[in-house]
Amino acid sequence: MLLEKRDSLNLPLCRECGGRCCQASPGIWVDPERFFSIFFPGQRLTVEQLRGELPALGLVLWEKTGVPMPAPRSLASGCAFLGTDGCRFSVAERPCQCLALIPSKETLDQQQGCLCRLPEEFSRDAASQRWQKYWQTV
Ligand code: SF4
Ligand code: SF4
Repeated sequence: MLLEKRDSLNLPLCRECGGRCCQASPGIWVDPERFFSIFFPGQRLTVEQLRGELPALGLVLWEKTGVPMPAPRSLASGCAFLGTDGCRFSVAERPCQCLALIPSKETLDQQQGCLCRLPEEFSRDAASQRWQKYWQTV
C-alpha cells in the first residue's frame, strides 16, 4: 500500500472543509504491519503488551468487533489528533484510513457530514479481517 504517495493529501478542498472526517470518528490503521513498523519497529507485541503501550501514544484499542485494533483516542469533538493546523500525525504515521479517504466536493456542498469515499479495501471490515489474521500469527 503506497499510501504516503496518495495525491489526495493537502487538497484545498480539505483545508476549506477543516476535517469533517476527523470531527466524526478517527481513522484506523488497516495494515497491522504498517502500524507496528511506525510505532514499534522490530518488535512483535501481544494484544496485552500493545494495550499497555497505547495510552502513552494517545491511542486506544478498539475491541467492540471482537478483533482488537489500535486507533487514535476519540474526544467529543472527534479525533484527539485533530489540531488547529490539521492532523498532528505526520503523513508517514497517519492512519491508513485517513490517507485512503478520497475527498469529494459533495461534502462541502452540504451543511454537515462527510460524503468522501473510503475504498472498500480500507473499510472497517477489511481492517478487522487483517487484524484478526495478524493476531493469529503473534
Ligand atoms: S477528506 Fe472529506 S471530510 Fe475529510 S477533510 Fe477532506 S473534504 Fe473534508
Ligand atoms: S488521525 Fe489525523 S487525519 Fe486521521 S482522523 Fe485523526 S486528525 Fe484526522
